[in-house]
Amino acid sequence: VLRLEGVRKTFDERVVLDGVDLAVAPHEVIALIGASGSGKSTLLRCINLIERIDDGRIWLGDRDISDPRVTADAVRARIGVVFQQFNLFPHLRVIDNVTLASRAVLKVPRAQAEATALALLDRVGLADHARSYPDRLSGGQQQRVAIVRAIATNPELLLLDEITSALDPQLVAEVLDLVRELKGDGTTIVMATHEMAFARDVADRVVFLDGGVIVEQGPAAEVFSRPREERTRAFLHRFL
Ligand code: ATP
Ligand code: MG
Repeated sequence: VLRLEGVRKTFDERVVLDGVDLAVAPHEVIALIGASGSGKSTLLRCINLIERIDDGRIWLGDRDISDPRVTADAVRARIGVVFQQFNLFPHLRVIDNVTLASRAVLKVPRAQAEATALALLDRVGLADHARSYPDRLSGGQQQRVAIVRAIATNPELLLLDEITSALDPQLVAEVLDLVRELKGDGTTIVMATHEMAFARDVADRVVFLDGGVIVEQGPAAEVFSRPREERTRAFLHRFL
């Protein structure tokens, strides 16, 4: 689905991603872990072309999306993204938030886009809120809407960046349950997370970033129970 080769990103003179190689298989769920500033968000932003890389290549399917001629909009229609802060449009009702990309980018007719959106909202128990504005929903509900919006275009890949870290603890579970469900559906997911227990439960593979470099990666059970690298051990130690 996705392949990164030697991805390098600098801000001014500072190297933030340094030769990142990563291949994501269909239906795979990958957890990016690492300390604050290790480059997790930057990596996700590079995949989504919010940031342009300085060196290396990024393949989405068989397309080299790091080619400067590739337009970001064309790529973003194929990748769903959810960030930490709820980025629902406050002036649009829930249903319009969810259908916006399908209608505007993919030119799906309104009735069809709304039927799809309602079915998805129903699945996450939010059909009753379709006509509400986002500020009438709890943080957890808003974040579930943001996830629904991200998958409404049926993307090949879903990127999740710390989607629970702005939530009250009691709202975290409902959002993580939804991610677990998406994994059950076979959605390909790359997520940055500080929820180590969740990463261990749900991720097929864990990738530990430190200083913009992948220090270690492997099956979640292995990385968490038998980290090979000292740096991984030191990082995980803080969570255990
Ligand atoms: P966190 O766990 O806190 O979310 P992170 O692993 O997501 O951290 P990034 O946000 O990717 O880390 O940041 C990696 C480094 O890049 C940091 O040192 C950050 O200050 C720097 N950085 C990120 N975005 C920019 C930017 N737009 N301009 C300059 N520096 C940036
Ligand atoms: Mg981040």
